[in-house]
Amino acid sequence: MVARPSPLSAPVTSTGMEATLPNLLSRCAPRVSGEALLLSNLIALSVAAPLGAPVWDNRISRSFDPVVSMDLNPTSEQQAFRDEIRAWLEREVPREPLGPTSTEEGFARHQAWERKLYEAGYAAISWPRAYGGRDADLLTTTIFQEEYVRAGAPERINVLGVSLAGPTLMAYGTDEQKRRWLQGILSGDDIWCQGFSEPDAGSDLAGLRTTAVREGDEYMVNGQKIWTSVGRFADWMLALVRTDRAAPKHKGISFLMIDMHSPGIEVRPIVQINGDAGFAEVFLTDVRVPVENMVGEEHDGWRVAMTTLGFERGTGLGAHVRFSRDLQGLVALVKAVGLADDPIIRDRVARLYAETEVYKHHMYRTLTRLTSGKPIGPEASINKLYWSEMEHRIYETGMDVMGPYAELTPKAGAAVDKDRWQKAYWYSRASMIYAGTSEIQKNIIAERVLGLPKEPRA
Ligand SMILES: Cc1cc2nc3c(=O)[nH]c(=O)nc-3n(C[C@H](O)[C@H](O)[C@H](O)COP(=O)(O)OP(=O)(O)OC[C@H]3O[C@@H](n4cnc5c(N)ncnc54)[C@H](O)[C@@H]3O)c2cc1C
Repeated sequence: MVARPSPLSAPVTSTGMEATLPNLLSRCAPRVSGEALLLSNLIALSVAAPLGAPVWDNRISRSFDPVVSMDLNPTSEQQAFRDEIRAWLEREVPREPLGPTSTEEGFARHQAWERKLYEAGYAAISWPRAYGGRDADLLTTTIFQEEYVRAGAPERINVLGVSLAGPTLMAYGTDEQKRRWLQGILSGDDIWCQGFSEPDAGSDLAGLRTTAVREGDEYMVNGQKIWTSVGRFADWMLALVRTDRAAPKHKGISFLMIDMHSPGIEVRPIVQINGDAGFAEVFLTDVRVPVENMVGEEHDGWRVAMTTLGFERGTGLGAHVRFSRDLQGLVALVKAVGLADDPIIRDRVARLYAETEVYKHHMYRTLTRLTSGKPIGPEASINKLYWSEMEHRIYETGMDVMGPYAELTPKAGAAVDKDRWQKAYWYSRASMIYAGTSEIQKNIIAERVLGLPKEPRA
């Protein structure tokens, strides 16, 4: 903790957000051949330089594959899309918060918002037109995310459906499975949760023990899932189950879609430190699941799951806008509490500013790779490790800036910005755990990006 701030009861407002794609480019990218932009050198420098030249072997140079030129200026259609979505969001984003997604009322209001997005054609713009999307390319999708965050639009509650279940079905589902589930995901009528983690199977996911035993046309499922986000309100779960207990652990796993309203499912909400219950334990006792709910082949669910996790650890397009906005909020907080002259705070904020800028460049570098047809590969771990730890440092600095005022509840007269910083600080700790913990990301970077020896395993 640092020096005491002066008491504040009014909300701290940020100075606005300007970190959109064209703004960034017009500020810092070199221009070549008219409007075309060569961004990769800039990005390669900002990301790769700290590694230094002496350890630059073939594997590293493959990973940091330096020069890919691309035109990041939006086309006229992309610019028109930005104008369109910006105008729509300005008109439609609710003026008042919709309430916590952990309460029935708050969740219902968010579901109504999902329906509104669907009716306007914005529920899943990157999905193919054949499935109700807009076939949006990566830059258009990034523009959507940038504008969505910029407008302060509500949290999306069916991310696991739109970003995990939907794309997994498109990759591995039968035509009948796609017909059955994709429409409900898109409209937000069916909320999906992800039943992967178990009490002794998180980082070591393949250690999962929930079993599915075939009995005629059904599987009988028994076991327990944990940390199931939106589990309390979900209609469907994409689940990993063990169908062959004798096989090596990665081999005997299958991928099942489970109706959360089936008899034998018990959902117990987990109450977090902030009082919300955003996820749940799910107990499955003799739950009957039709065999046609299996995605991919029996015992081949690990391969399907790796595809699903690839979507989960993807690029997080547009997240850079959120971090820039958070940084602006931090600057506003520092000024509001009278610590703008404190040399230690100034130093920390300046470092964080540099980090958010580096992240932004790394994001565009990733975008460059993807739009030039290259896979994101294990470098996705650099992305996850970097943003989650940076986010935590931003909010930790906010808590330090507030000093003892960080301990006040939102109702206390002297509370700073209600409990915005506290909630964000607590949640930022979770960011370093979900979708693969920081330690796991470091292992992946060490082994698969840097080519260091594999970690010893028992
Ligand atoms: C907010 C939030 C939402 C989540 N939502 C979902 C969800 O919807 N569905 C779902 O299935 N799961 C969900 N999870 C669970 C998440 O995927 C797991 O928490 C995560 O994979 C870590 O597993 P674990 O909690 O079992 O920790 P463990 O794997 O037991 O790890 C404990 C500690 O040991 C470290 N560790 C483990 N293995 C190694 C290693 N090989 N080398 C070095 N260190 C190691 C870890 O980094 C960690 O610090 C969610 C988690 C959070 C925090």
